[in-house]
Amino acid sequence: MMKAFKFRLYPTTTQAVQLNQHIGSCRFVYNWALDQKIKTYEQSGKSISRFDLNKMIPVLKIDHPWLKDVNSQSLQGMTKNVESAFTRFFREKSGFPKFKSKKNPVQSFPVPQNYFVDFENNTVKLPKIGEIKAVLHRKFEGELRTATVSRTCKGNYYISILVEDGKELPAKQKFSESTTVGIDVGIKDFAILSTGEKVDNPKYLKNSLKRLKVLQKRVSRKQKGSKNRAKAKQRLSVLHAKITNQRNDFQNKLSFRLVSENQAIALETLNVKGMVKNHCLAQAISDAAWSSFVTKLEYKAEWLGKTVLRIGQFEPSSKLCHVCGHRNSNLELKDREWECPDCKTMHDRDINAAINIKKFALIDQNLIGL
Ligand SMILES: [Zn+2]
Repeated sequence: MMKAFKFRLYPTTTQAVQLNQHIGSCRFVYNWALDQKIKTYEQSGKSISRFDLNKMIPVLKIDHPWLKDVNSQSLQGMTKNVESAFTRFFREKSGFPKFKSKKNPVQSFPVPQNYFVDFENNTVKLPKIGEIKAVLHRKFEGELRTATVSRTCKGNYYISILVEDGKELPAKQKFSESTTVGIDVGIKDFAILSTGEKVDNPKYLKNSLKRLKVLQKRVSRKQKGSKNRAKAKQRLSVLHAKITNQRNDFQNKLSFRLVSENQAIALETLNVKGMVKNHCLAQAISDAAWSSFVTKLEYKAEWLGKTVLRIGQFEPSSKLCHVCGHRNSNLELKDREWECPDCKTMHDRDINAAINIKKFALIDQNLIGL
């Protein structure tokens, strides 16, 4: 199975320039490939494959000779990334692939192969750049797959290495109604479980999110192009990185706990149409947080032989009484609690939804009847 290992790199000044060249050139090829994909589709209604795009890269190098200073495989890795972005868009109905901006806080490029990790000397050797000092704090064995080199907004470099350790994934464990948990996305809380538990974002993360609003306002108040604006932006991107870390930490712990405690986890596929329409920033952030959480749940479940069940959004999970099945069409978003007119059960809106998500998922699996 595949595992990822991330290490800090300590390039020399010359090497840092080379890494930055790779980052810039790969971003350029990514945007070019995305543009080609869109234009080809607009003109012919057909999709251009990454193999055809790769064949065009040598021509691109003639027009842009600086691309020759960069590892070709890294450039070709970008056409693969564009293709994966489209696959995700179609399969998971995630957002349409975006052009990469120089302003993104984290910049990266792939090294698909021909790199070498030296644990004895604590170096990583990259094509076209050579041996870079690194802190290889965890040893691993296995076949090296794609590595990704990234630069954070603070100017630190990291390499993340995918390793196939040759071990097979554990077989999927059986699950039943009593070993399955349903999860609903909350508005107030981060997640609500069918057990009745509500999991909120940790306090440190909430504080950072509050601070984010303050810093965003500061940026927008500063004059465009001014030094103060640049400074405010720098502070904002440092905070962004901090939030990403805090969020990953919280989500890793929660997903590990859920996957350990249960044999199966049922959740709703996010409503993408609703997401696209929703311009509210807070909502967009929480949607992004949710999808990164689902990714973490899915790969941890794979490692431990657990199952993630997904149900479609068309099921009215919050409007159905989970006890008698009565459909409360009058339920509005502001109603946090409601009483079922048929069986008189009092419902917490989110917990009722989580229980229904679990129910629908198990019905899909023929594990319980209607
Ligand atoms: Zn009822």
